[in-house]
Amino acid sequence: SVLSAGTASGPARLTVLAGPTAVGKGTVSADVRDRYPQVWLSVSATTRAPRPGEVHGVHYLFVSSEEFDRMVAEGQMLEWAVVHGRNRYGTPRGPVEEHLAAGVPTLLEIDLQGARQVRESMPEAHFVFLAPPSFAELERRLVGRGTEDAEERERRLATAHVELAAEREFDVTIVNDDVHRASDELVSFMGLAADVAPGA
Ligand code: 5GP
Repeated sequence: SVLSAGTASGPARLTVLAGPTAVGKGTVSADVRDRYPQVWLSVSATTRAPRPGEVHGVHYLFVSSEEFDRMVAEGQMLEWAVVHGRNRYGTPRGPVEEHLAAGVPTLLEIDLQGARQVRESMPEAHFVFLAPPSFAELERRLVGRGTEDAEERERRLATAHVELAAEREFDVTIVNDDVHRASDELVSFMGLAADVAPGA
């Protein structure tokens, strides 16, 4: 089982990765999942529909609104939030507790609202802020997706300004200038040896 991958030196530390919209949290955490099997990346529940290529149980637990309500009502969510004013996302508590108890370093990739809730309930967690190289770069990423009209872009940029100010609530900032570099830095912050390519 994945739980047997633990170091058996007692409970592991929980690490929370958060940051502004479009900074690339999903890309960095997927890179950790792919390159560092010793880290367990929590699988969130969401009410949004799967995108092509997303697998239930790997990328998310895709649940109905009723199922999400039930999980919240039963106290199964460590944290949850409505993200971008649309869908709900939450971290199932049980698997996080099991992996930590088994000594498996555990990573949550969640939004800022969720990170604040985890700070309340698990203040011993480590909080990592993923930052864009610059505000201009964040703007370029938001605009580059080309999926929003001008008004929606303005709204998201205003949100991004507010979100960038949250950096001071975090223990450490990692700049997402390069995905592998950022994920290596995250893993070494988690106290694990990062694979640095020979000659890199
Ligand atoms: P997407 O729909 O693009 O996969 O994710 C949208 C946003 O939801 C991202 O900012 C991601 O960090 C956030 N998110 C994903 N899972 C969770 C979760 O379990 N809790 C919270 N609070 N946010 C989440």
